[in-house]
Amino acid sequence: MSRNDECVQVIVRCRPLFGKELAEGRQRIVEMDTSRGEVVLKNPKASHPSEAERKFTFDRIFDWNCTQREVYDGAAARIVDAAIEGYNGTVFCYGQTGTGKTHTMEGYHDWDDASSDSFADSMPSNAGVIPRAMSHIFAHLKAKGVEHSVKCTFLELYNEEITDLLAVSDLVEGTVEAANAKAPKHPLMEDGKGGVAVKGLEEVTVANPEEIFDHIRRGSAKRRTAETLMNKQSSRSHSVFSITVHTKESATDGEDVIRCGKLNLVDLAGSENISRSGAVDKRAREAGE
Ligand code: ADP
Repeated sequence: MSRNDECVQVIVRCRPLFGKELAEGRQRIVEMDTSRGEVVLKNPKASHPSEAERKFTFDRIFDWNCTQREVYDGAAARIVDAAIEGYNGTVFCYGQTGTGKTHTMEGYHDWDDASSDSFADSMPSNAGVIPRAMSHIFAHLKAKGVEHSVKCTFLELYNEEITDLLAVSDLVEGTVEAANAKAPKHPLMEDGKGGVAVKGLEEVTVANPEEIFDHIRRGSAKRRTAETLMNKQSSRSHSVFSITVHTKESATDGEDVIRCGKLNLVDLAGSENISRSGAVDKRAREAGE
């Protein structure tokens, strides 16, 4: 993917200090000018004024006061709209463990509640990009009144191995060794159209947001079980939730217009696990992958 301002935006979100950080009296060293997209990192221990601060400019920035809704509207809604119009789009979060990637992508953890009818209509304030995108897609399709189908997949990538978070059969009970040996492998393959596809991945058709939330709840629970069973941590694995939206509309000349867009919502491993520095043995392989 080439860097093109039309297609790729680099957006920064800074979370508030909380808990232990406040208790330890830590100070924020970041200043943000949201109107200019400017982030200033201050170095309180600088020995020379020239080292006291560094400035970075991004396409858009969100400071510690921003809400989940503002982040969704400003960073993701446009890409979700494009997917409904038949384009492919991806939203992914990059940052160290603890910086707020999962909060931004999922936010809401009690997916049991999310399976109820009222959830999509009255989104909880902490709901992140994934639940908001789901509600947005179905609200938009309903408003347009077009024929449509929505399918989703949910996978986890750890080292070179892919776990299908929607396939019931993939998780093996028992020891770590048994789980590692028996867990089905889903190879990454070229799809012949310049993209990649995952062989054998379960694709489920969903009719409303509540059904998607139910799949996310199952997938997230499975991710946690796999984490314990295979001795891994979600901060070291990537998860990819993909939604494919097909729509069919009748044009004025009587021809059908068929659109197919794909939206990937990605929660990357902590960037400290992706960088090569300091990784040894098994961690080095994880980092390299
Ligand atoms: P990561 O996925 O990057 O490891 P998390 O999303 O798990 O980080 O965030 C770490 C902690 O910080 C969680 O307890 C989360 O609820 C909290 N947190 C992250 N971002 C925010 C925010 N913008 N506002 C309030 N709490 C946040």
